[in-house]
Amino acid sequence: MSEQTADRSTVLVDRLLAWFDQRDRDVPWRTEADPFAILVAEIMAQQTRIETVRPYYAKFRARFPTVVDLAEADQDEVLRLWEGLGYYARARNLHAAAKAIVAHHGSELPRTAEGLRGLPGVGPYTAGAVASLAFGAVEPAVDGNARRVLSRAFDLENGGPTALDRTARELLHVCPERPGAVNQAIMDLGSEICVPKRPVCDSCPISSVCLALGRGTIALRPARKTRPKKPLRRGAAVIIAKGTDVFVVQRPRNGLLGGLWDFPNVSLPVDEGAPTDAWLEREIESAFGLVVSVGRPIHTIKHTFTHFFFELSVCEAEWRRGEASTSTQWLWAGPSDLQRLAFPVYHRRMIECGLAEPGHHSRPVGTS
Ligand code: SF4
Repeated sequence: MSEQTADRSTVLVDRLLAWFDQRDRDVPWRTEADPFAILVAEIMAQQTRIETVRPYYAKFRARFPTVVDLAEADQDEVLRLWEGLGYYARARNLHAAAKAIVAHHGSELPRTAEGLRGLPGVGPYTAGAVASLAFGAVEPAVDGNARRVLSRAFDLENGGPTALDRTARELLHVCPERPGAVNQAIMDLGSEICVPKRPVCDSCPISSVCLALGRGTIALRPARKTRPKKPLRRGAAVIIAKGTDVFVVQRPRNGLLGGLWDFPNVSLPVDEGAPTDAWLEREIESAFGLVVSVGRPIHTIKHTFTHFFFELSVCEAEWRRGEASTSTQWLWAGPSDLQRLAFPVYHRRMIECGLAEPGHHSRPVGTS
């Protein structure tokens, strides 16, 4: 590190910590010292706004105050508490991590970033965040906000993981006694001031040492990734009624929305119109072994996933005969099952509007 860079890093960390220390950010997990609570918060907050996380975190912590409580829980309950937060692999991995901590680490979180990375679903960011916040380890935690701040403050043309890691470590070594605070301050600056489109440089505590501001390259940092256009995927689902129950299937554990429950559905070609009832009945019999009579359409779901748009036409249907035969878990679900099991958020809205109850297909529901 050159002397000039070292000077800039020292000034930057001093100003950043002074700014961080005089703020009072009302984030419940900020005051947590419990490493398990920090792990839960860090995983929940990934790719999710703090305001969205807040109620989920409170419910999750109330139900699972210790890592043992989470390890012993049923996965359906874990997913139900996560329902609506998205990116469900996080919930499955957190559950698996709790089991691994209990089984292999005496119910205590590993204290190093390397040890934490051995847990399911814990990558470099989470490991660095937990190690620095919970155990005071001098480890960087570079999320999207930190990437933006570091790329701009040091005008990193090639702000790849190696350059970011090296830059973040330089800053941590300015104040190795407070690695958690340095990491948090960088991330907070990125979420509140050094925001993607209109950074508030006039209010930025590190503006005097920000290279991108001085060189006029803010709009170029960090380098943009070009995202491909999102394709449309279509499907048709049926709510099959048998008495007061409806047929539900569990999605494969490792795929999209893995482990959540679903109404049986099939894919449709994007450029074709609505399927005929006869076609849908044949598809349902072939996929699930049930002979059904498809009735009227009751709803069209439009939902945006990270990588595609999704449109799902939902029809009512009556079970006629046949036993379910499918490799996935299935259930004839009564009203209490529909409340107990975790569903994708768009199905939960249908359930809450009464559209999934046999004979109650009447009330409108919004799209997402
Ligand atoms: S001066 Fe502007 S661009 Fe530089 S770190 Fe601060 S907010 Fe970001």
